[in-house]
Amino acid sequence: RPALVWFRDDLRLADNPALDAAQASGRPLVLIFLLDEASEDVRPLGGAARWWLGRSLAALAADIETKGGRLLLRRGRASEIIPGLASELRAEAVYWNRRYGAGEIAIDTAVKAALTARHVNAESFGGNLLHEPWTVQTQSGGPFRVFTPFYRRAMAQPVRTPVRAQAAWRFAPAPAGERLEDWALEPTAPDWAGGLREAWTPGEARARAALGTFLDEGIHGYGEGRDRPDRPSTSRLSPFLRFGEISPHQALAAARHAEADGSAPPRDVAKFVSEVYWREFSYHLLFHFPDIGRTNFNGRFDAFEWANDEGLMRAWRRGLTGYPLVDAGMRQLWQTGWMHNRIRMVAASFLIKHCLTDWRRGEEWFWDTLVDADPANNPASWQWVAGSGADAAPYFRVFNPVAQGEKFDPEGAYVRQFVPELAALPSDIVHRPWEAAPTVLRRAGVVLGETYPRPVVDHAQARQRALDRFQRLRGE
Ligand code: FAD
Repeated sequence: RPALVWFRDDLRLADNPALDAAQASGRPLVLIFLLDEASEDVRPLGGAARWWLGRSLAALAADIETKGGRLLLRRGRASEIIPGLASELRAEAVYWNRRYGAGEIAIDTAVKAALTARHVNAESFGGNLLHEPWTVQTQSGGPFRVFTPFYRRAMAQPVRTPVRAQAAWRFAPAPAGERLEDWALEPTAPDWAGGLREAWTPGEARARAALGTFLDEGIHGYGEGRDRPDRPSTSRLSPFLRFGEISPHQALAAARHAEADGSAPPRDVAKFVSEVYWREFSYHLLFHFPDIGRTNFNGRFDAFEWANDEGLMRAWRRGLTGYPLVDAGMRQLWQTGWMHNRIRMVAASFLIKHCLTDWRRGEEWFWDTLVDADPANNPASWQWVAGSGADAAPYFRVFNPVAQGEKFDPEGAYVRQFVPELAALPSDIVHRPWEAAPTVLRRAGVVLGETYPRPVVDHAQARQRALDRFQRLRGE
């Protein structure tokens, strides 16, 4: 009787506890990925994430073939397909790594009940977080709402070491499945994914290579370098972590190893580790406050009067706000499916505070366009920027896109890359072209309002307007 391994957000063969346990059971394996777009309460993937998923599944299927097996693809409602398949195959057990959203947990609970009723074992594992969210508790036994104490407590708890993929593979004959091509995960007409294909190679092998390159190069000076969008200073592991092509355990173990052998500076490793723990914190929040993507964490924000101006929203989405740093970020997002963290903060703050647009509108756009669109990190970060979140940035913090640009993209290289119509402007003016002398603009071929927009809102006025509204919320 075979063991069934159900892949979900863990598209890797190494350090995969569910797969490892199935192999250790000594039973022949059937490996399945199920595209479940039918269950209730599961947020459909956005366009960029669907693209990533398609490529990642192709890579996983190829990796499995090199081991002599096949990845079975099915589509439908998990609570029907998984138990049905287990019965059809007369499986002994089904193994999976846990997910943490309320909808996903409800599905897994239903699948487990259906399997148990058919006398099939269901075994779940912690594969994708360093700490299961319920194991990190405050002194009174509740969840954390503030990062630093969460981090301190979590760091004091043990983390398992990564498990290696086993050498011996034994597969059971898999029944007929669907073809990945028939799932239409990649766009065709129009094909907007050219920039994604150029920027990324999804899959486990590439994830490990990215981690290696980062630990050889980017980690040096990461503490400060991580704020520089003009430099390749961050790991760009986020989509790989999102789809589980690498585990946080592998990232952490490799970083600690690089620290121990003296090839990575301890300060930079510590900073990197703390960023990985921000991901843990987001999942802690998602698990304990499952509505985090829909509801203000701080209920006071329910009364906020959003303007939700469609024209401003459109300008923001297209990277045509007239603020070069914001526009560079929004175009990087559209072209490559990823945006640098510092610019995510600036762009999100601009939409929420300068444009007074409900953070949920921005979160949806990111959900659709990010290859790393994450059910925990995305809403938690948007609420952080809005000021409505757990341990959020204070509401009066309104990023100044010009000052941020001059500080973190001092030569304007990032802006020049993604806003080429400003490429010929001198560095000292590239973040505020509307203040450039007419001769400077002319020489750079920039005609404001024609080749590049004037600012859609005035920074000082918009900032004051936001502060006034936020203050009203506080009843001051
Ligand atoms: P690195 O600096 O190399 O960090 C390593 C890993 O740590 C990342 O891959 C990520 O998993 C985690 N991490 C780093 N920074 C953060 C952070 N601030 N919060 C949580 N985890 C972090 N991250 C996502 O993975 N998916 C999202 O959908 C997402 N949406 C965001 C939306 C907004 C408005 C903001 C401000 C941030 C968002 N982030 C999101 C967090 C962060 O921007 C990305 O994780 C980071 O830019 C990924 O790049 P990297 O892998 O090079 O990061």
